[in-house]
Amino acid sequence: MTIKDKVVVITGASSGIGKVTAEVLAKAGAKIVIGARREDRLASIANEFQDRQVLYQVTDVTDHQSVKRLVDLAETKFGRVDVLYNNAGLMPISRLADLKIDEWDRMIDVNIKGVLYGIAAVLPIMIKQKEGHIITTDSVAGHIVHPGTAVYAGTKYAIQAIMDGLRQEQINNHIKTTMVSPGTVDTELYHTISDEKTQQRVAKDEKENGLLLMDIANAVAYAIDQPDKVAVNEILLRPRTQKN
Ligand code: NDP
Repeated sequence: MTIKDKVVVITGASSGIGKVTAEVLAKAGAKIVIGARREDRLASIANEFQDRQVLYQVTDVTDHQSVKRLVDLAETKFGRVDVLYNNAGLMPISRLADLKIDEWDRMIDVNIKGVLYGIAAVLPIMIKQKEGHIITTDSVAGHIVHPGTAVYAGTKYAIQAIMDGLRQEQINNHIKTTMVSPGTVDTELYHTISDEKTQQRVAKDEKENGLLLMDIANAVAYAIDQPDKVAVNEILLRPRTQKN
């Protein structure tokens, strides 16, 4: 079994990378369960597909029980969970001296705890199955830090450690891990930046230079579409013109 008929749960699937990845995998024949907070967006993605191939559940990844309900829906309706794609994230970047402590908290809650809650929800199921694949959207910011990205990059560096620990702990249970680390991508992510000038600069860069959503979705599909023996642990992809 490669992509076709795999049961895939995706967080942060109401827009951007998560939405397009859900569509690409569903077109390849996977059974998909999508979660995020905006129900209208989730419903319209699910409605693109027939025969309840794509199900949705309103999910807040900062709430452990909410993430568990999302994963449980997949297991109840489709009988197993082959892939969890922990993709939800925020990027309200700012300099540390601006003391935007609420934004630091939100990034830690969504980008780190959200990923951990996904792992907590799916790990007992995958251990029981003796099979599974956990994917997360990391970032080039999980490898390189710049002034203004300290906390965002900190959350993505943290994910590197968590995912590699998970990989090493779960080798004998046949659970694969993949981090997909994009550079700039043209999405709505810049909306989460509260400083207007930074928001405009990032939005312009994303529009003019960013990777397309399909580029990231194809990377996720590649990681899933591998023989049992092959674990693609990391994919780092930048626009050709992005220096750092
Ligand atoms: P989007 O803003 O389009 O997507 C973010 C998704 O996360 C949305 O579906 C949003 O849904 C969801 N989300 C946010 N908070 C929560 C929450 N509390 N609970 C559940 N879902 C939540 O941006 P992207 O597609 O770009 O972002 C996806 C991932 O890609 C993030 O992890 C981001 O860090 C990463 N990334 C993005 C890059 C870029 O240049 N765009 C580069 C590198 C990495 P809703 O609001 O409906 O809850």
